[in-house]
Amino acid sequence: MTRLLIMGPPGAGKGTQAVGLASLIGGAHISTGDIFRANVAEGTPLGVKAKEYMDAGQYVPDEVTNAMVRDRLADDDAQSFVLDGYPRTLDQVATLDGILAELGASLDAVLVLTVDHEELIARLLKRAETSGRSDDTEEVIRGRQEVYIAETAPLLPVYRERGLLREVDGMGSIEEVTARINEALGL
Ligand code: AMP
Repeated sequence: MTRLLIMGPPGAGKGTQAVGLASLIGGAHISTGDIFRANVAEGTPLGVKAKEYMDAGQYVPDEVTNAMVRDRLADDDAQSFVLDGYPRTLDQVATLDGILAELGASLDAVLVLTVDHEELIARLLKRAETSGRSDDTEEVIRGRQEVYIAETAPLLPVYRERGLLREVDGMGSIEEVTARINEALGL
């Protein structure tokens, strides 16, 4: 069983790398952003709740996000996983600790992709041309970087302290970053 988190600011390439990593470890790719977007598209009650926060570039409230992840991690196919975009707050870290303890499971590593600030903005503006995502406007893109710095960057010292953090340079081509990730994780 392999259980990984992938972290990094919006635009760092988490989603792209998480898909390949999940298939490499034979685990589930669990992206909270993807689950929210699917719910918004289907107009479910969860989607209705999440949409206003997402459009504003704010985090969906912890109790909503935590309940969703708790359900997903209970699925049979989630024994090995790459969690992409969760946890994003200290409250979510505590919840994830609790969920994993209940399952008798633990994390193997927490990967963080680092990318220059200006490169992040440039990548997201480029993605905005084709993504159709309502949160890919320049104002919201800049706001989401600030939310990451305020709410999510403080998680890094927590995982560093636990000896789980693996920092990987996320600049360069997708293939270059994949190779660095695999090396950092010994895959
Ligand atoms: P992402 O696709 O990971 O960039 O997520 C898109 C949006 O979904 C974020 O800007 C948040 O509004 C919401 N979201 C995704 N994951 C979380 C999370 N762990 N906690 C709160 N909100 C989240």
